[in-house]
Amino acid sequence: MPPAPAPAYRGRFAPSPTGPLHAGSLVAALGSWLMARHAGGEWWVRVEDLDPPREVPGAAEAQLRTLAAFGLVSDAPVVRQSERHALYRAALDRLLAADLAFACACSRSALAAGGGVHRACAPGPARAQAAVRLRVPDGSVVGFEDALCGHFAQDVATDVGDVVLLRADGCWAYQLAVVVDDAAQGVTDVVRGADLLDSTPRQILLQRALGLPTPRYAHLPLIVDGDGRKLSKSLAAVPVDGDDPLPALRVAWRALGQRPGPFDAPGRVERGLARASAAFDPGLIPRKPVPLAAVHNGPVTDDP
Ligand code: GLU
Repeated sequence: MPPAPAPAYRGRFAPSPTGPLHAGSLVAALGSWLMARHAGGEWWVRVEDLDPPREVPGAAEAQLRTLAAFGLVSDAPVVRQSERHALYRAALDRLLAADLAFACACSRSALAAGGGVHRACAPGPARAQAAVRLRVPDGSVVGFEDALCGHFAQDVATDVGDVVLLRADGCWAYQLAVVVDDAAQGVTDVVRGADLLDSTPRQILLQRALGLPTPRYAHLPLIVDGDGRKLSKSLAAVPVDGDDPLPALRVAWRALGQRPGPFDAPGRVERGLARASAAFDPGLIPRKPVPLAAVHNGPVTDDP
């Protein structure tokens, strides 16, 4: 399939259907939508359903229904990664043919001995089923300018090791699929949660190995609970209510550091979104994690 022509700005929201949409995912959905609208660009939704063991049946449809109830509707037909195996296979085959990827049957214990960081296949018992990894040369330090987090660099060789592209259980790794799809869909701007900040250098390395363009990145602050834990890992990760979208939109809007107003008046959600896209100021987005209590009490600022 030829890549989609590159527009000036094409953003995306790419949820994994592992459960209902919660407050944290709504921040990523609304934040990526607002950044796209602010730039006069497009916003596409992609269902990242490549991990059947973690998937909850019906969750993808429920997430899309909830997004629609929030007025967040993809500008292009929704793409599902589970229907795109041939694209990932073609990318992997190119890497294998260029000797940039290799099969690895290292056992779990051999990997654990290296702290989970794979640098060379260990002799000894092998797994029946091999994984495929990207060959990450020593000294693969990758840095990039994040629109919100500033400069971020990582030594992918020492911090991550040889990146898994095809898992030993036969599932495509998120890292490969996301890189292939962002390029195939002509995504120019990736706006997502800061929990994925440290996945970005390995994605850039993979883009370079495949000869694909690197999009711009902006990683949104995570909402954390009182103990500083990511919201989705705590009891506070309650699903957002598509039947009553305004309260959750207000919370997401505050988590993005914006001045109250757009979602305060009752009425149709589309009205609120129109007011929000007119009022949105990316410069107000906090650069650090946002405590849940703060978003329930008023706008979040970067002030100490
Ligand atoms: N599917 C990933 C998630 O739900 C997000 C991928 C991305 O935005 O790059 O965490």
